Amino acid sequence: MKYDLIIVGGGPGGAMAARCAARDGLKTLLVEKMKAGRITRFCSRDLRLGAGGFSSDTIPTDVNLKRVTVTIEVGSRHHRIHLQGLPPDAVVDYRGELNPVFNETLVSPSGRAFSRDHSNRDIEGFVVDKEQLLIGLIADAEAAGCVIRDGTRCLSIEDSTDGVRVRVTSDAGEEVLSARRAIIADGSFSMLAEQLGFNEGRSPGRGRIKFMNLILDRVKFPFPEWRRVRFCLPSLHNGIVNMGPWPPGLFQISTSASVSNEVNLQGILTTFTTNSPFSELFTGAKVIARQACNMDLRPPIREAARGNVICVGDNAAFAEVAIKGAMGCGYMAARFSKEALEGRDGNAAYNDYWQHAFNFFSPQYNRRANSVRKITEALTDGETDDLIGWMEDRGIAGLPNDVIVEHREQLEQDLPDICGKLLPREQDRGDRHAVA
Ligand SMILES: Cc1cc2nc3c(=O)[nH]c(=O)nc-3n(C[C@H](O)[C@H](O)[C@H](O)COP(=O)(O)OP(=O)(O)OC[C@H]3O[C@@H](n4cnc5c(N)ncnc54)[C@H](O)[C@@H]3O)c2cc1C
Repeated sequence: MKYDLIIVGGGPGGAMAARCAARDGLKTLLVEKMKAGRITRFCSRDLRLGAGGFSSDTIPTDVNLKRVTVTIEVGSRHHRIHLQGLPPDAVVDYRGELNPVFNETLVSPSGRAFSRDHSNRDIEGFVVDKEQLLIGLIADAEAAGCVIRDGTRCLSIEDSTDGVRVRVTSDAGEEVLSARRAIIADGSFSMLAEQLGFNEGRSPGRGRIKFMNLILDRVKFPFPEWRRVRFCLPSLHNGIVNMGPWPPGLFQISTSASVSNEVNLQGILTTFTTNSPFSELFTGAKVIARQACNMDLRPPIREAARGNVICVGDNAAFAEVAIKGAMGCGYMAARFSKEALEGRDGNAAYNDYWQHAFNFFSPQYNRRANSVRKITEALTDGETDDLIGWMEDRGIAGLPNDVIVEHREQLEQDLPDICGKLLPREQDRGDRHAVA
């Protein structure tokens, strides 16, 4: 057989898997349907430091989590991203721009602000040039002997005791490639995971979200240091408008809504930038590009490795995998594919890794994340000002969900109507048990 391993998809998961497998001496092929390293799917590109999640910084205690965290060795032009929690060679050379982001901040309609950290000096993460990150990983994979075929879409995979047969199409036409194993890292809405039966028994989840992002030039950033800014303006939109840097040298503003909500996201962003309390920040700004994507709020695939195939990254869960998590999965999937090829139970080892690598495997974390209603859905503009002002005046810091749950008694006393809207009594009681 020509290849030991075929990897489908050249995002952070697939590119990392390709590099690791080739360095481990496997005969490896990576197929990517686009030009390798080119991205059209929207991603905010924030490489967060630390173990905190998207909705809560509380570390769950019900699952023995071994999450990948990152530390970054900053050079003048050449940086190194260390994936902590993995073997020491899980280090990625990165030559793109690094935009430090300091203090995620929620801003109310009248400009009250509440932040994740007490200090504006602690770096929370770095917004990276994701194309440069992928180009570097793919170049490393190629240098280690991986064959890269871009412009090549995988149509189907047949998995049998003899190995995998991978049907692909490219400008050269259709062909079937064979290998002993495959890693699929084809991102959200994976047709291959579906075809191979990985989604059997998986719940459809809590619906589908749509996102729209504008990349802008010449924006007046509202804080002296770079932050992820989250504007809450319920009278305009019942979602948040996010703003942050976009390397190299630009800005991103994005928002989201359920796909069942007919709201026009582009229209919301246009109103936000031209006719809202914040439009002054965008006087003279120019839209450079638009990006969109959808995401299913689906629970993860539990057994992501089966037969001769391992599912990696977003195809097995939704966005909380994130860039660092996808790279971690790619690295481990390559390692455990090699173990399987050497006759050991690589699938069991990968499934054990996967089930302990992410917050979304913790019922406690999920309850905490879902126990608080979204501010922009539950409150009016005036109530949002009162809530964020209340947090700001008390000098509280943290993620809103954590702060609301942890200060609920004080909130109930000071702002009972707002507390009642954000923490319905049933869920409040449920969460009390969950975090005890
Ligand atoms: C709105 C949004 C914001 C986000 N913001 C952040 C953030 O700030 N920070 C962060 O770390 N993460 C963020 N994420 C998550 C992050 O984008 C993903 O978790 C990560 O990119 C997953 O990597 P992946 O390799 O699994 O998949 P992807 O990055 O989706 O890569 C999949 C690759 O497979 C290729 N492909 C697909 N099908 C085929 C096929 N049939 N044949 C060949 N190739 C194929 C695609 O072209 C693509 O290159 C965000 C996600 C969303 C939706």
